[in-house]
Amino acid sequence: MRRMIRGAARPLAAFASCLLAFLAAAPPARATIRYEISLARPAQHQFHVTMTIPDVRQSVVVQMPAWNTLYQIRDFAYHVAALHAVDAAGKPLRVSRSDKQTWTIQGQGEVRVEYADYWDEAGPFGTQLSNEHAFLNLAMVLCYVPDRRAEESTVHFSDVPQGWRTAVELPADGSSAYRAPGYDALVDAPVEIGPLDMFQFQAAGKPIRVAVHGESVDHARITEMLTRIVEYESSLMGGLPFSEYLFVYHIGRDFGGGGMEHSNCTTIAVGSAGQLANVSAHEFFHLWNVKRIRPQSLEPVDYTREMFTPSLWFAEGFTNTYAAYTLVRSGAWNQGQFFADLTEQINELEARPARHWQSAEESSLDAWFEKYPLYNEPGYSVSYYNKGQLLGVGLDILIRDATDNRASLDDVMRKLNQDYAQMGRFYPDSAGIRTAAEGVVRDAAPNARLDLDDFFARYVAGTDELPLADWLPRAGLNLKITGERRVASSDETAQTYAIEENAHPNEKQLRIRDGLLRGTVDRAAVAQPAAANGR
Ligand SMILES: [Zn+2]
Repeated sequence: MRRMIRGAARPLAAFASCLLAFLAAAPPARATIRYEISLARPAQHQFHVTMTIPDVRQSVVVQMPAWNTLYQIRDFAYHVAALHAVDAAGKPLRVSRSDKQTWTIQGQGEVRVEYADYWDEAGPFGTQLSNEHAFLNLAMVLCYVPDRRAEESTVHFSDVPQGWRTAVELPADGSSAYRAPGYDALVDAPVEIGPLDMFQFQAAGKPIRVAVHGESVDHARITEMLTRIVEYESSLMGGLPFSEYLFVYHIGRDFGGGGMEHSNCTTIAVGSAGQLANVSAHEFFHLWNVKRIRPQSLEPVDYTREMFTPSLWFAEGFTNTYAAYTLVRSGAWNQGQFFADLTEQINELEARPARHWQSAEESSLDAWFEKYPLYNEPGYSVSYYNKGQLLGVGLDILIRDATDNRASLDDVMRKLNQDYAQMGRFYPDSAGIRTAAEGVVRDAAPNARLDLDDFFARYVAGTDELPLADWLPRAGLNLKITGERRVASSDETAQTYAIEENAHPNEKQLRIRDGLLRGTVDRAAVAQPAAANGR
């Protein structure tokens, strides 16, 4: 997260300079912006918010985000009612509205803004206050001061019903108050308050907390499942870049489905506990891919309008690739389940005629249309999750093939982590991914012949059919046509496929297949050609 650039335009190079240096050089926060959220009216689904802004000179602008994390304009401002402002003595201040989400308040010194906020939307992308619990994505509830987003913020919850407990991944500041270095960090920490089932355990040396709302779960099974995921992904990426992590689970049929990633937390809703592993593996990998390994196109965050990024095929699709890799490599899935999932992805893409004209990059840019049902029809869009997952497997096979399995997509993810995330920089979208992949291949096999121009031009930016029948055999896998099916809401038919293991692969194909299924987390073994058999 970074603060909005203010004042005179800066040269691009300075703009791209690392976040850590930026934070170190930032002047001390001038003051603390304080929020109080009252839960006094759960039956009415109405929060009451008081925002206290110190050090106002003549006037202050406050804004409510139009979107946050989910790539959809949802105009949170229309949930706001009766917004008004007073000074430190309680005297009313003049408030004027300039657009759908912006208010200007005339005042001096301390300004207090108050409003009611109605929310009864279940699930990880929503916000809800009810007699059962409160769940808040704070950007849906809290206004910000546009040029003061980098100032320290605190949030305090009042009128919390008896017996309710709070789960949030922010440092506590007294009882039921939490602190963040700025607005962006504050709203990256969703809050679950209710009669929660909470437990925690250690994995890969770090505390992992779990807060469950809804149906009860078996702690031992969840702990075992999450330990596999956390430990595998930690070993893959070279350690966990947080001090503590929180899984918030909404379990039951009332909560919709899906997950939302945050830097040190995720919220996941599923119909039953059996569905948790796949979503958890995906969301946990996001703590690197998209939260820390982050495309330049998504920064700095502009909450007022769409942020168009061509990189969701990587941010979401490759996260899907790694969710599947995590499950098979950690033993949660057997090989058959991994191949069944891959087959399903192939058949899903094949059943979308839009693949002939919408590229993976375009699908990413058009994510903002997903709130319109027509757009999701097979003739109107492909999914960057789906095509991206297949691009991930394809690129992995090509890298392994070009380097005789001495390098892989795992090395690309680690390189992006080192070159961008750990340096506090954002990667330059497709060009950054391509450069990292080329670097990995060059390091492992200086004479390798692999043209990634072609891969990116044809399959990422372009709409050429993915050459799966060429890629998969390099990993000792055959793509078999099994039949035909009708494409939903169209007259067309699509071929259906199945993946079969080649019963007699050569040694190289076998190494690549083993590499895909087992991964390459031991860098020392990978670095020595004699031991380069894909552990
Ligand atoms: Zn995701």
